[in-house]
Amino acid sequence: MKKSISILGSTGSIGLNTLKIFKKKKNLFKINILTANRNFKLISKQINEFKPNIFVIHDIKVFIKVKKKFVKNKVNIVNKLNIKKNNFKKSDITIAAIPGIAGLNPTIEMTKISKKILIANKESIICGWNLIKKTAKINNTKIIPIDSEHFSIMKLLENHNIKDVKKIYLTASGGPFLKHKMSSLKNVKPNEAIKHPKWKMGKKISVDSASLMNKILETIEAQKLFMVDLKKIEIVIHPESLVHAIIELKNGLFKFIYHETTMLIPLANAIFDDEIEIFDLLDTRFQKKKLIFFKNLNFINVDKKRFPIINLKSKINEYFSTPIIINAVNEILVDQYLKKKIPFTSFYGYILKVLHDRNYKKYAVKVPKNVNQIHLIDQWARKTTSDKIEILK
Ligand code: NDP
Repeated sequence: MKKSISILGSTGSIGLNTLKIFKKKKNLFKINILTANRNFKLISKQINEFKPNIFVIHDIKVFIKVKKKFVKNKVNIVNKLNIKKNNFKKSDITIAAIPGIAGLNPTIEMTKISKKILIANKESIICGWNLIKKTAKINNTKIIPIDSEHFSIMKLLENHNIKDVKKIYLTASGGPFLKHKMSSLKNVKPNEAIKHPKWKMGKKISVDSASLMNKILETIEAQKLFMVDLKKIEIVIHPESLVHAIIELKNGLFKFIYHETTMLIPLANAIFDDEIEIFDLLDTRFQKKKLIFFKNLNFINVDKKRFPIINLKSKINEYFSTPIIINAVNEILVDQYLKKKIPFTSFYGYILKVLHDRNYKKYAVKVPKNVNQIHLIDQWARKTTSDKIEILK
């Protein structure tokens, strides 16, 4: 019997990679639910091509437009992912890939009706891991992190107890500005920031990679997923982006996972529980490269002057909800930067301003029991960031 796949964020980079795998393995899968936001053209194309049972479109204007266009279509086009109301069928596999905290509610909802959930959306792990974990336990849902670093750490730890691990090294490519002239970093434009040297990704994660906030977010993610002491996590620049994570064991052995810079590899391994011949799934540019072809692998310490955001590592565990606040501030800053309202070099300063706000502790000490309480903290941080940006103008 064919397995059913659902994708949260089907028009995005992770969503499209998943659909590439689907297209090559059509005989094994059928599409259950797809969700997207604003990309009318691609949503329309996906309705025609994949004929999902349900297509959820978050943006109300786009939803109305698509609904009109497909008025006679069998695909159930809805505006909200309401698993009770729309009588959603259970999925064998769900890929959660809506960026930002916007992905939290859909990820939790889909965890209730999926046998296995592959989580790319790190922000939902950062803000709501306890709730996701609890929901997965109640519903017997398997969780697989898909962020390439965390997928690698998970694989590396499979045969080891976390107690035997001395260090976990999270590798960072260093993004497009690793060697950029320091004095001109202030003026780097969004189109330069989103041009990642190694990965093709959505805008938000690309800016996070350029500022290295992505590694702060991934440090929080790793801490939550693997219950590892923050002191054991080390961030290291690895410009080739071929080694995705390294573990150093107390017995003196180092182990790492190396694979080409394509998310198809963690995605396909997670979908097929490692039993996949990857070659046929890869784009020709990776096929041509011969897979196991070791280049010079470089590992460099992070330059804190160039990437001051890295200093946030010492703040992550200040209070229980500090990660929710850091994440929310960053989402506002990335959005403002992409709209050319603030300079690239202002991120760290704004984050510190929010962490030093007189109401910060009041929100940061909260231990949210449900999604609404997470959103309250998130909303406070968003509003405070917006206020600070206004004040500084
Ligand atoms: P993209 O920006 O490429 O895609 C985002 C997808 O989510 C699109 O389908 C978009 O719809 C949809 N979407 C955006 N906002 C909303 C919303 N408010 N409600 C519902 N749907 C929404 O992102 P990526 O695929 O690059 O990243 C997705 C997640 O995966 C992120 O959390 C990222 O950090 C993580 N990740 C990504 C990697 C990558 O290689 N891309 C690697 C590791 C992790 P539409 O296009 O219609 O507007």
